[in-house]
Amino acid sequence: MIRLPAFTYVAPKTVDGAVRAIVDAGPDGMLVAGGTDLFPNMKRRQFEPRALVGLRAIGELRGVAGSPREGMRIGACTTLTAVATHPEVARGYAGLATAAGLVSSPQLRNVGTLGGNVCVDTRCNYYNQSYEWRKAIGFCMKRDGDICLVAPGSPRCWAVSSSDTAPVLWSLGARVRLVGPGGERTVPLAALYRDDGIEYQAKRADEILTEIVLPPADGWRSAYLKLRRRGSFDFPVLGVAVALRLEGEVVREARIVLGAVASLPREASKAAAGLVGQRLTAETIAAAADAAAGPAKPLDNTDLTHPYRKKVTRVYVARALARVAGFDDGTSLEAIA
Ligand SMILES: Cc1cc2nc3c(=O)[nH]c(=O)nc-3n(C[C@H](O)[C@H](O)[C@H](O)COP(=O)(O)OP(=O)(O)OC[C@H]3O[C@@H](n4cnc5c(N)ncnc54)[C@H](O)[C@@H]3O)c2cc1C
Ligand code: SF4
Repeated sequence: MIRLPAFTYVAPKTVDGAVRAIVDAGPDGMLVAGGTDLFPNMKRRQFEPRALVGLRAIGELRGVAGSPREGMRIGACTTLTAVATHPEVARGYAGLATAAGLVSSPQLRNVGTLGGNVCVDTRCNYYNQSYEWRKAIGFCMKRDGDICLVAPGSPRCWAVSSSDTAPVLWSLGARVRLVGPGGERTVPLAALYRDDGIEYQAKRADEILTEIVLPPADGWRSAYLKLRRRGSFDFPVLGVAVALRLEGEVVREARIVLGAVASLPREASKAAAGLVGQRLTAETIAAAADAAAGPAKPLDNTDLTHPYRKKVTRVYVARALARVAGFDDGTSLEAIA
């Protein structure tokens, strides 16, 4: 059994209390919600915080409010199960309900939170290993070492953004509320991420993500597809989030965001722009899928081979668009993919 390193734990009851606690803890402190990502990482000595500030006792961070018509607010500590099974979320933001319901396993979704999923650490085959494994290969720059073992000449880490919900929330135009010692701010979820496997978040370490704000769902339809080896609980090796605003049969706005292909969710803007003003047909879907596969440049540092993941990107984008269009039966899919 791998044991956790020693740490102190505080569980404030308010957001203000949590901000004070994380500021007091300084650089040795970390926030924890469900702990389903952080605790395994601590066991592998990827993080060794001396102080943890638990967020689960803060009632104001839990719950879902609003409706698809007016927009919805989801507390950061709402469990993934609660998000996946919420009828209004499923009605207005189908892609989000799907993504939340595909994270890991039922047990972990009962504990893991939406906020934790948005902030989940980037992953790499050379990093998500025990301390002894990593030591045996000389470590890498994400933790304890100097070079990148995937791209040894590279000055940066290419660990992969592996959140299921982040690409969907990005595609839905979600915003996040952050509260820290300097006050609070609400920013587009897309602004939370940086293209760097180590410094993958743009927020300050002492800022707490308190809620996710979804815009009105009026006219928008969304879908999420996930590629992984085991359907039961693997992280995504590819996630495809599609959100379209339709007027009748014509696409008025479109967003396609790919997960697990880079250190941050990757928006396929050109592919989405090509759909605007078009009807969804086998031809327009195939053209968008071709264009979307372009920005996907998976590296050889997660499960399945990277050429295969790139090929499947095209197929999954086509399938996600077909699902939103409502004609994802086998015949149409064969024509598209
Ligand atoms: C076997 C296994 C399989 C998994 N499969 C998947 C998968 O398929 N897809 C997937 O996306 N994830 C997967 N995970 C990872 C994890 O379970 C989920 O991402 C989960 O949603 C994390 O939420 P949490 O509340 O447990 O986060 P925690 O572990 O508590 O925190 C994760 C990170 O977020 C930070 N954080 C948490 N909440 C906040 C907040 N409110 N404000 C600021 N920072 C915060 C923490 O400091 C930490 O850095 C898996 C984990 C395991 C162990
Ligand atoms: S991408 Fe390179 S630096 Fe980053 S975790 Fe993997 S091996 Fe380490």
